[in-house]
Amino acid sequence: MRATTQILVIGGGPAGSTAAGLLAKEGFEVTLLERDHFPRYHIGESLLPSCRPILERLGVWDKIAAAGFQPKGGAYYFWGPEEWEVRFRPHGRDGSTSAWQVIRADFDKILLDHAREVGVDVTEGIAVKKLDFDGDRPVAAHWAEAKNPANSGRIEFDYLVDASGRGGVMATKYLKNRKFHNVFRNVAAWSYWKDAKQLDRGPSGAITVASVGDGWFWGIPLPDGTMSVGLVTGRDSFNAARNELGGVDPVYHKAIGDCPAIQQLLIEAEQVTEVKVEQDYSYAAERFQGPGFLLAGDAACFLDPLLSTGVHLGTYSALIGTAAISSVIRGEIGEREAWDFYEVVYRRAYERLLVLVSTFYESYRGKEHHFFRAQQLSEKDWEGMDVQAAFDRFVTGIADLEDTEEVYRRIQGHLLGEESGKHNPLDNLNRVHEHKQAPEKPEKAINGLYLSYEPHIGIRRA
Ligand code: FAD
Repeated sequence: MRATTQILVIGGGPAGSTAAGLLAKEGFEVTLLERDHFPRYHIGESLLPSCRPILERLGVWDKIAAAGFQPKGGAYYFWGPEEWEVRFRPHGRDGSTSAWQVIRADFDKILLDHAREVGVDVTEGIAVKKLDFDGDRPVAAHWAEAKNPANSGRIEFDYLVDASGRGGVMATKYLKNRKFHNVFRNVAAWSYWKDAKQLDRGPSGAITVASVGDGWFWGIPLPDGTMSVGLVTGRDSFNAARNELGGVDPVYHKAIGDCPAIQQLLIEAEQVTEVKVEQDYSYAAERFQGPGFLLAGDAACFLDPLLSTGVHLGTYSALIGTAAISSVIRGEIGEREAWDFYEVVYRRAYERLLVLVSTFYESYRGKEHHFFRAQQLSEKDWEGMDVQAAFDRFVTGIADLEDTEEVYRRIQGHLLGEESGKHNPLDNLNRVHEHKQAPEKPEKAINGLYLSYEPHIGIRRA
């Protein structure tokens, strides 16, 4: 193991391996320490199309596309008395899918191996135990082998990306600034089923989302033929039901019985794993950065499984974090300004989704309400944009990408002679990424700054 590195990344989940890989591709010396040996189990199997352009930029998309994951055509909601769908459009020139239902053990391994291939010094089975600080600035990490703690050492770094997930080394151990959302004091209980039926409506390979009592279910068809079926419900009602029914399993099975949409899918299915439970996963750190460090992915914040936003926020924060660190190292911008940009952009993406998810939990107001809320959250004033389109932009993560790529999108739209009026924003996704021309005068910036890809990933002044 090196004794010094330019950038240390803690954690090899989607946020860590994406940040590390992008930074290595920018030419920096990056070391990534991962506590587990991959492949390792992880929940979070349903991806959004917004991950695609980021993974393409990382150069790993073809490997993901070749891995045999389940193409995800969108989402189908049974929400209160209503049913509706979100249909993802294919974005590849060949009409290929832009989102997948993945087995995370395999997906995360592809990303981590890819980071290694593009030059990251990756070590698995090593946990970061402690950080040394120079004032408020972390400057070195003490590590130890997870299975043999006697094998230990210290590594110095210039910059730290904390992508340690829910463990959250910086936020929980040092900053102590993680705040939990009272409204989402939820519990998730899930297991895997074989011989589940495919949903007979909606986009193919869709995630099924079905409300029930004080919560909702996900049904995610996985590439190994099983279905991930999870119940999310309020912690108090979950605990009360567990006491009354005598355990987690009866609560889970009773809720399936109360949810016709999910029950239908499982009518001939067999449960093949134990029920797993997680709780208190909805939180945000009070700040996502500080001297010399950024928090990425779940280490910074996590919302709720409802809109499948976890991997999106992880890879998105990795992209913005790469731009921030790269521009600081190259001397294009000061650390304070770059970190502020990171904080504002990432937090805005998070908070917008948070508001949208919270309106979902007010179950029975119906889809018009969710769509309307999404439109209110949009700062766009596109003439003629309909509310379903506004909703789609948020729940696919595209709105977040557009925030940082607005300039490119607009210029590209102009070059293509695209009408500025009504259009489906998902159609723009590929064109955005094919665009190679740096804008001379950006039309929109955040704090006078914007994310740019040319000639390098970085933050530029408007
Ligand atoms: P992780 O994937 O957790 O990776 C962090 C890594 O850091 C781990 O591999 C860990 O071993 C390592 N690590 C931790 N501490 C240390 C240390 N001290 N030293 C070295 N390494 C360390 N998201 C979706 O996109 N779609 C979904 O359908 C979805 N469903 C979900 C359902 C539930 C019930 C929950 C709780 C979450 C769900 N998520 C979903 C969220 C998703 O799981 C996470 O948002 C995503 O995994 C975050 O990626 P990450 O890289 O930030 O963290």
